[in-house]
Parts: sequence; C-alpha cells; structure tokens
Amino acid sequence: MLYPNMLKLLISTIILASFYSCNKAPKSEVASLMTPMRAVLAVRTVKTGEVKRGQGLYQALKSVSIENAQALKLINELRDEIEFSKLKVGDHLEATFNENQKLVKFSYSQNLVESHIVTLNEESGSWEYSFKELETFWQPRTLEGELRSGSTLESDLIARGLERSVVNEVVNVLLCKVNFRMNARKGDRYKVLLSERKFQDKTVSSKVLFTSYKGRRAGTHEAFLYEDEEKSSTYTAHYTENGQALISSGLRYPLSRLHVRSGYGWRKHPVTGRRAMHRGVDLRGRRGAKVYAAAAGKVVISTFNKFAGNKIGIKHRDGSTSFYYHLNKRRVNVGSWVRSHQVIGTVGSTGRVTGAHLHFGFKKPNGRWMNPLNKRMIATPKLKGVRYAKLLNQITNIKGTLADLAISEEVKYLVANLQNVRREASHFEDFSYLPFR
Ligand SMILES: [Zn+2]
Repeated sequence: MLYPNMLKLLISTIILASFYSCNKAPKSEVASLMTPMRAVLAVRTVKTGEVKRGQGLYQALKSVSIENAQALKLINELRDEIEFSKLKVGDHLEATFNENQKLVKFSYSQNLVESHIVTLNEESGSWEYSFKELETFWQPRTLEGELRSGSTLESDLIARGLERSVVNEVVNVLLCKVNFRMNARKGDRYKVLLSERKFQDKTVSSKVLFTSYKGRRAGTHEAFLYEDEEKSSTYTAHYTENGQALISSGLRYPLSRLHVRSGYGWRKHPVTGRRAMHRGVDLRGRRGAKVYAAAAGKVVISTFNKFAGNKIGIKHRDGSTSFYYHLNKRRVNVGSWVRSHQVIGTVGSTGRVTGAHLHFGFKKPNGRWMNPLNKRMIATPKLKGVRYAKLLNQITNIKGTLADLAISEEVKYLVANLQNVRREASHFEDFSYLPFR
C-alpha cells in the first residue's frame, strides 16, 4: 500500500525537481559563466574613438591610446585590407588592451555594418585578421517634388530628410547643367532615384542612381550613375544618356595654403646657379605638411629620383598629369586611384633642393609642360567604347527600376482608392484619370 504511494511521491518529486531546475538552471548557468568572464573583462580595457576633422591616421590611433610604434605595426597588418589614406571623418576605431596595457585587439569600421578586426593570438604572438559584415540589402527609393516659392532643390531635399552628402551629390551633378541661381523657378520638377543600403531599418549608405530636373527656364536634364568595374575608378560618376560626364571638377590646391615661392618659367637655378627653365611652381610649405591631389586621377608615378626627390605623378581624366616633387613621404602607390584633395604625401626636401618646399608641375595631355596655376578645370570627355556600352546597359537597368517603382506607386494608389475607382469606372469607360505618368 505504502510502496506505490511512495513511488508516486518520488516521481512527482523528481518531476518537480526537474521542473524547478529547468526554470532555475539558466540563471545559475549564466551566473557561473558570467563570473569568470567578468573577471577577464574587468582587466581588459576597451577604448573607442572616431576620426575627427583634420586628424591624420596616427592622431586618430593615438586617440584610442595606440602609440606610434604600435600604430606602425597595425598599419602593416591592415594595409592589404584597408586603404588608410581614405580614412574619413566619423570612421570608428576600437582598441582592446589586456591587463598589462598591451594591445590585443583592434577594430576599424567605416560604417554600421563592416568591421576590420585584428586580434593578437596571445600564444603565438601573431596578429590575425578578420572581416565582419552584417547582412544588408539594397533598396531603391524615388523622391519627386516641385519647387514652391522660396524653396530650392537643396532646401527641399534636406527638408525631406536626405543626408547632406547625398543632397550635395544631387545638386553638384545637376549644377553641371542647371544654373540654379539664374534659372530655377517655382514649379520646376525634380526626381531622384536612390539605392539605399539597409541594415534593419537604418540606411548605411546611399547611391544616387538617377536624378532629373525639369524647369521652364532651366530645361530638362537627366543624369545616370555609371559604376566602373575597377574599384575607386574616377570613371564612376554621373553621365548624360549620351555619355557626357557630369562632374564639377575644378582643380584644388595641393597644399592647404598657396604661397608661390618661385614661379613658372626661366630663372636662375637656386642650386646650380645656371639659367634654366622652371617647369612648375615652388610652393612654400613646412616639412611634414600634407600634400593633396589637385584633382582625382590614377597614380602613374611614385618613385625616388635624385633631382626630384620623392616624386608623385597623377594622371587625370582629361589626359593631363600633375606632379609633386621633393616629398618627405609618399603615401600612394602606382596604380591606385585618388580622389580630389586626397592626401598623397607630405612636404619635404628630398632631391636637389635648398630647403623644404613643394614643386608642383602640370603636363598637358600632349605631354608639354604648362604653368599649373593656369590650369583651372579638368575637362571631362565623353565615355567611349566598352565603358559607354556599359553605361547604356546600366541606364537600361535604372530606367527599369524607375518603371517598377512607378508601377508599385500606381498599384498602391489603386488599392487605396479601389472603392472610388470601381464606382467611377462603372459610369465612365474612360480610365484616363488614373495617375499613369
Ligand atoms: Zn621647383
């Protein structure tokens, strides 16, 4: 009699106990796991920072407590994965140090979703690189509007929540065709097609695939994004349908201040004392001051020469080449593409010189030297050949996306107005009031 009852009790106790432990176990497991982890975390320090305006790479690394010697090593580890010369304001840095203040992990992200990470293998002492990318997707979106009195394209797009850099891109592209100050009028219509890279509901980055402007005075203009196969190619830009580039490409100064120490033309050479043609201008600059690319282009020379010292040449889209001599440091290699105003090196006194300065030279597309101070714009020729064929292909895709989005807008409209449409349709056989544009 007692036996089965005891068994029952035993079973129910076991069930209860297991039930109880099911509920309780996770907590105690977490607790026991957390304790040693916390102990490790307590002695590790993590420093985070962002690249600030005017900061170089070394200064940015210093802001997360990475000193120069360590920084050099890191740059070496990451040089194949990251183009440090393209460091942007707002890029995120994170450094983790162990209990001896030794750097054990470094991560670098240019946006929300991509991180470059190097981790010290504390047993072997070697650094291991990994790339972490969260899953994102590209989503097209159109924005259309009409200028009201007092509004501008710029103010309209900002009011609609577009990021400043995207607004600038749209305006700069259209500026090649539209003189907004003279010819923008109330009632002018604009359209922008964006491709937005999304992480959850956040926009990580945007591309302006298409933009158009239609105005009484300004006329009708369309611009399409061409994306070159070669990464960072300066051909990646906006074009008209017949291949004309829409790039405002004024020349920038190669130094932050322009002070000409010696002009272009015949002069007595400061070292040899002989009369010689000076094929460029000498610009005053402190040793170590940043030297910028005067315009976007491809690096065609990066070498040392006993006269020119450390020398860089950049070939631009119109076939002209800019030259930078006597550099202390060269920061770009032959074959790489540079943006306009990208840092390419620093002022120095290498080669045959009397002191630190930048010799800045310019060759026309035909190979003749010219006074760089007379060069104002890089002419942007039409896309030709294979590239033009690819542009036409990309334009077809963009037009397809625009049509798809227009259809989905119409469907939305029809669904929203289904009742009205049915009622009206029974009265009239004419469908012309539907918003087919
Ligand atoms: Zn010179």
